[in-house]
Amino acid sequence: MKSSTFMPEIIISKGTNCSWLLFLGFMKTILHWFKQDLRIHDMPGFACINPQDCLLPVYIFDPRHSVKLKYGFSKMSNHRLAFLEQSVLALKEKLQSLNSDLLILEGKPEELLPILAKQFNVHAIHTEKEIAHEELQVLSNVRSSISIPVIEFESRTMFTESELPWNLDRLPSVFTDFRKGIEKHIGLNQCVLAEHSLPNLPKSFDANDLENLWHGPYAKHISIHPNSAVRAIGGEDEGVKRLHEYTYGMHGIATYKETRNGLIGEAYSSKFSPWLALGSLSAKNILKTVNDYEQEFGANDSTYWMKFELLWREFFQWTLKKHGIDFFLLGGIRGLKKTSSWNQEVFDSWRFGETQDAFVNANMKELYLTGFMSNRGRQNVASYLVHDLNQDWRIGAAWFESRLIDYDVASNWGNWMYIAGVGNDPRQDRVFNTKRQADMYDPNGEYQKLWLYENMAKNDS
Ligand SMILES: Cc1cc2nc3c(=O)[nH]c(=O)nc-3n(C[C@H](O)[C@H](O)[C@H](O)COP(=O)(O)OP(=O)(O)OC[C@H]3O[C@@H](n4cnc5c(N)ncnc54)[C@H](O)[C@@H]3O)c2cc1C
Repeated sequence: MKSSTFMPEIIISKGTNCSWLLFLGFMKTILHWFKQDLRIHDMPGFACINPQDCLLPVYIFDPRHSVKLKYGFSKMSNHRLAFLEQSVLALKEKLQSLNSDLLILEGKPEELLPILAKQFNVHAIHTEKEIAHEELQVLSNVRSSISIPVIEFESRTMFTESELPWNLDRLPSVFTDFRKGIEKHIGLNQCVLAEHSLPNLPKSFDANDLENLWHGPYAKHISIHPNSAVRAIGGEDEGVKRLHEYTYGMHGIATYKETRNGLIGEAYSSKFSPWLALGSLSAKNILKTVNDYEQEFGANDSTYWMKFELLWREFFQWTLKKHGIDFFLLGGIRGLKKTSSWNQEVFDSWRFGETQDAFVNANMKELYLTGFMSNRGRQNVASYLVHDLNQDWRIGAAWFESRLIDYDVASNWGNWMYIAGVGNDPRQDRVFNTKRQADMYDPNGEYQKLWLYENMAKNDS
């Protein structure tokens, strides 16, 4: 018997309509195609599987995710790849501990999934709903290459599209209106999905036969930098551990509003983002944990502020879904007329931390050496590239995409657009004075000293 039961979480989510699948009435094989949802808890795709069905969990490393960009660097740096590989392997281990497994492949999903579907007599593919252009294109290719249903589940956001108080075309373009609408109409008490027992693997699954379909891990080993503000190890258990440590261990949540603009160390902000980005933590789970904490220890401005920030994340996800490809255009979702400028030397000085501005340089070095940067740092370096160095904001966004271990398409490109004045900011002239910011947030220059003298290899990996 290969199924097992694991920790129940409570409650069933709203908005997951899978009754038609559950009542099909014969034993089926469901292929769960994991993408940016590398977890088992709070997983809508699992709630729709009958316990007597078979489940084939699959992850595919798509070579298109690490192509070299026209700007001369890879879409995915070694740091990001290392964190991703760690997270995928942790998922495999977790599934194995529950008597299941994860088939890890490399190639194009639209070529591999039809082969698997045939080999394992798959009845349906379950996968995360996509919102970004490139991912939607891949999904559409998969659909065209296969005759079985591909069923999408909304597992990335706190709210499903049908739960939003607006149709997407009426989604507010200003964050405050979005926040007020959500808070007023639906509140912030989203439920976390109950955990289910995992169905058996298909009978023909033999890990030994299939083992060599992925030749990784490919990332070069990275040891966590001693100055690093994040010490993230990939995987769901590590993500949940950080959630509980930050909330109940350090009570960081109770002082978050005062500390969140910090620059040094693990405690100034939650550092949930690397796990959130790969779906090893669900946004709903964080929200539930904050709500539980408030019940036990009382609510304050800081506990509220964590929810406020999660709403920013949510806002960018839905804004991307609404605007599609415009999210990535020079004129942004405002469609402004802009002229692109890209000077390789200027850009290199920024990305390798060699500009005239020491505060910017320190932040860029931190990003390069650790795959992370504080929110305060991100705002400053982005503003500096766009408004002081006059470079096309999309090259900065692409560099962040390559380096950040918490890279999230909506949060990254949405924030860049915002700072470049072509996004959701009602003000178009929001320029950060990096000198003044350094005086305010690094008054003794401690942060700058921490990074400025660090050596860097200055290559693209
Ligand atoms: C130019 C730029 C690029 C960014 N790129 C990314 C990205 O690729 N991935 C990413 O997750 N965040 C991005 N952010 C947002 C923010 O900087 C990070 O979410 C945050 O620094 C992560 O650290 P934390 O988890 O400790 O955040 P905390 O301060 O503890 O916040 C908790 C959570 O709230 C969400 N959040 C907080 N601030 C924002 C914000 N401004 N926009 C969206 N969500 C937010 C994140 O999910 C975060 O994990 C970017 C911000 C800027 C200015």
